[in-house]
Amino acid sequence: MHGKILIVEPIATNRIVLKVKLSTAYYDVSQAGTIQEAVAIALETCPDVIISAAQMPDGDAGALASALRDEAAIGEVPIIALDNEGARSTRHALLEAGVDDVLAAPLDDTLLLARIRSLVRAFSSSSEWQLRDDTTRALGLSSTAIDAEDATGSAVLVSNDAPKMHGWLSKLRQLLPTQLSMVTTKKALSPYGQLAAGQSPDVFVLVIEEGDPNDMMRLLACIRSHSDTRHCGVLILLITPDPVVAAQALDLGANDLMFHGFNPEELALRLRSLVQRKKIGEQLRATVRTGLEAAICDPLTGLHNRRYAMPHLDRIAQTAAKTGKPFAVMVADMDHFKQINDVYGHAAGDAVLIETARRLRENLRAVDMIARIGGEEFLIVMPGVTLAAARTAAGRLRQIIGETPYKLPHKNTALHATVSIGLAVGDPQAPENKCNITASRLLLESADQALFRAKNNGRNQVTLSQPAA
Ligand code: GH3
Ligand code: MG
Ligand code: MG
Repeated sequence: MHGKILIVEPIATNRIVLKVKLSTAYYDVSQAGTIQEAVAIALETCPDVIISAAQMPDGDAGALASALRDEAAIGEVPIIALDNEGARSTRHALLEAGVDDVLAAPLDDTLLLARIRSLVRAFSSSSEWQLRDDTTRALGLSSTAIDAEDATGSAVLVSNDAPKMHGWLSKLRQLLPTQLSMVTTKKALSPYGQLAAGQSPDVFVLVIEEGDPNDMMRLLACIRSHSDTRHCGVLILLITPDPVVAAQALDLGANDLMFHGFNPEELALRLRSLVQRKKIGEQLRATVRTGLEAAICDPLTGLHNRRYAMPHLDRIAQTAAKTGKPFAVMVADMDHFKQINDVYGHAAGDAVLIETARRLRENLRAVDMIARIGGEEFLIVMPGVTLAAARTAAGRLRQIIGETPYKLPHKNTALHATVSIGLAVGDPQAPENKCNITASRLLLESADQALFRAKNNGRNQVTLSQPAA
């Protein structure tokens, strides 16, 4: 089964004909005769697409779109309206009311199926991101609100007919806040063109003149495969209707299609919705990314947290086992930190932790992992270092913390802080050290025990783990 489709059509014979076509294409089809019935069935079945007659006994497809929007669970399901009359004014009204596309009779089956596929694809990927965004928010990892109405992005018209494009641009600019420009196909495809990093618009309009669609299809395939443009909206504008080219373009990843040549109002409507969708997608991806960062980072110091550090330590141990190179694990704990808080206040304590994190980062290599794994406790994992090198590094860290006073923000005083470090080195060449996950955790335990001894021996020192007896 390719997905679930709800057909909304008051005339039984039309419903049956459509159902047969879609079932043959392996869709699971349900049916409704009115808007009221459609909303009830949609709530029950959660279809991937709704195909609706333009007019039902209790309202038009636009009314169906707005009735669905009131239901959170199904508010985003794409709707294709089938309009037997094919009047431009009806098409505009329906698009404006939130219908995703309007196809006119006679219906081309290949094109209809391609349009369904493209909408299912867009809907399922946007709902996946939505779900991940919801989770990120539920976990409290992001609170930035999504702006669903932002149409101020940019769009570029791709065509080799520059004078015609300039005419189109001046009409569109009166209808849209979007920044609009034009480019030739050749330029768009060039390494310095619209596919280059930092150059890509939010939406491409690929204008296909009668005859040779090959260049545009190539451009479309490039847009979809380049990392900078993969998420851009693409609208195919056919100067003369061609269902084969249209279906091909949709299957290559075009998001929207204008089948009957240029019309400024219709293009503006479709562009607005593509730009908005692109912006929403961007915002959703950004929240998920920020959420991921928040999930693995310590908000106070910006270092990694324990959740990231543990599996990272395991991976380093496994890599060491493969390469045969040793690696070091250090646990560094600030000395008498409670006193710093007690004497200078908690905010001063925070400032010391932030500055300590900075000193650690500055004095280690980019490949070394530094995490804050407790209140005033840090874990450092250094891949590819020998015992001697690790010892030197640990000694240097102890010094740069203990020997440079910490300036306190908004205070004229500076304070002295010291750190104790427990060090253990995993050597895959040593017979007792297999460097697997268990070994990496044992190594961490040894570093912890070494730290304990450093504390007992008077603090402000580096202590090496002792080999197991
Ligand atoms: P020791 O030398 O034995 O490690 O002594 P200590 O005082 O550093 O250790 P202890 O575990 O007794 O106290 C740790 C203190 O660190 C207690 C806690 O209030 C403080 N602390 C933990 N997290 C934070 C933080 O995020 N900010 C601040 N300012 N203090 C913190
Ligand atoms: Mg401490
Ligand atoms: Mg501690």
